[in-house]
Amino acid sequence: MRYISTRGGGGSCDFEQAVLRGLAPDGGLYVPESFPAFSGEELKAMADLPYRELACKVMAPFVAPCLSPEELKALVDESYAGFDVPEVAPLVKLDDGFMLLELFHGPTLAFKDIALQLLGRIFGHFATKRGGGLTVLGATSGDTGSAAIAGCGGIKGVRVIILYPHERPSEIQRRQMTTVDAPNVHVVAVQGAFDDCQAMVKHAFGDETLRARCNLTAVNSINWARIIAQTVYYIHAGLRAGALEKPVSFVVPSGNFGNIYAGHVAGRLGLPLHRLVAATNRNDSLAQFIRAGLLKPGPVVPSLSPSMDIQVPGNLERYLFGILDRKGGAVTEALEAAKSPEGYRLPAELLQKMQAEFMADTASDRQTNDAIAAAKTMSGQTIDPHTAVGFHAAMGLTGNLPGAVIALACAHPAKFPETVRGVLRAPPPVPARIQGLKKKRERFTILPKNPEALRTYIFSHMPAS
Ligand SMILES: *Cc1c(COP(=O)(O)O)cnc(C)c1O
Repeated sequence: MRYISTRGGGGSCDFEQAVLRGLAPDGGLYVPESFPAFSGEELKAMADLPYRELACKVMAPFVAPCLSPEELKALVDESYAGFDVPEVAPLVKLDDGFMLLELFHGPTLAFKDIALQLLGRIFGHFATKRGGGLTVLGATSGDTGSAAIAGCGGIKGVRVIILYPHERPSEIQRRQMTTVDAPNVHVVAVQGAFDDCQAMVKHAFGDETLRARCNLTAVNSINWARIIAQTVYYIHAGLRAGALEKPVSFVVPSGNFGNIYAGHVAGRLGLPLHRLVAATNRNDSLAQFIRAGLLKPGPVVPSLSPSMDIQVPGNLERYLFGILDRKGGAVTEALEAAKSPEGYRLPAELLQKMQAEFMADTASDRQTNDAIAAAKTMSGQTIDPHTAVGFHAAMGLTGNLPGAVIALACAHPAKFPETVRGVLRAPPPVPARIQGLKKKRERFTILPKNPEALRTYIFSHMPAS
């Protein structure tokens, strides 16, 4: 498979280059040059495959020829061996035609593990092959950082540097980053906000000397490998819910449009999907775009589902590229227009096309709390606030969507104990994985919000060569 940029610049590249670069040189995102499609017969034959085998089948065309089927299998097996259930992403029936897809059985208890456990190992594979080592650099407000650290910790040839805003993440989120005892993990608390961390990372990537000497690689949600790793659970769950015989819809708590875009890719690969429902918190520019075709991101406001406090859904660019006939110039114009006071308006016939695939819903903090309570009453399930935003949408849609509805459970409730305790008057159950967290030693460095400080830090932590 070859990959091209959504902005239309440059030629194509292979999977290894797309993964190691992250962002295309023209600032666009990588998308496959074409999508393979599974026939109905092939999908039928895939319906009973265990998760890991299905993962290899779905991803093989996207990683060829950079990873052989045997190499892919070894990486997939290792990545999911550490999950606490063999199914990796179990589908739990709540009610007739209403299911919860549990994506929180990995090391850091959020769905990001499913992609980042694999991405860390893919980085390691390419680093070993090339020699010289890679530096994975990223900024996080919480979940991505811990999942990236868990994915890259202890991987040969890779070192990982994660920046987070000092004293902003929850205690559990911080400890998940700072207590990982691996010499290749470096955690930096920046005296500033998430945006300052991101600006420092961006600055580092613009520094040619630094970039070349350290082989810098990004670990953010725009990496293509993360998308395709997530597409697997849509196909796995969709086939199990009977998508070849009846309508099946997914409800996806959304921020950066990465998770739901992976669902769109599952559709492109041939999985029959009725609707993909994007559920947002009050940061709802994505929901407004799907409902009215107007993309006009407002300021971000904090909510009970912090991993979805995003107004510029980065991966939407990939969907726009597809719907705008794969014209890079049109994508660039649309993104420019979205930054203007008027925003970007999708032409009417394209809006219709988008609405034949996507729906949207928004939950306030109050509705999020109500959904946590409702899930408990209805099915005995304790859900986290992100999952609750989707649960709110799913409840509102019952009766309007034919067939089966699968709501994605994106994080374990134990990651957000304050919110859950506030609603249910009891703390969520604490999984064994995080029980010892409070006793472990924390390791991190505090830096001022200054790109020079990061540069010095990176150079002084280079392994001796
Ligand atoms: C990252 C995250 C989301 C948002 O997913 P996107 O791919 O950014 O749309 C939702 N819930 C949780 C728990 C997350 O960690």
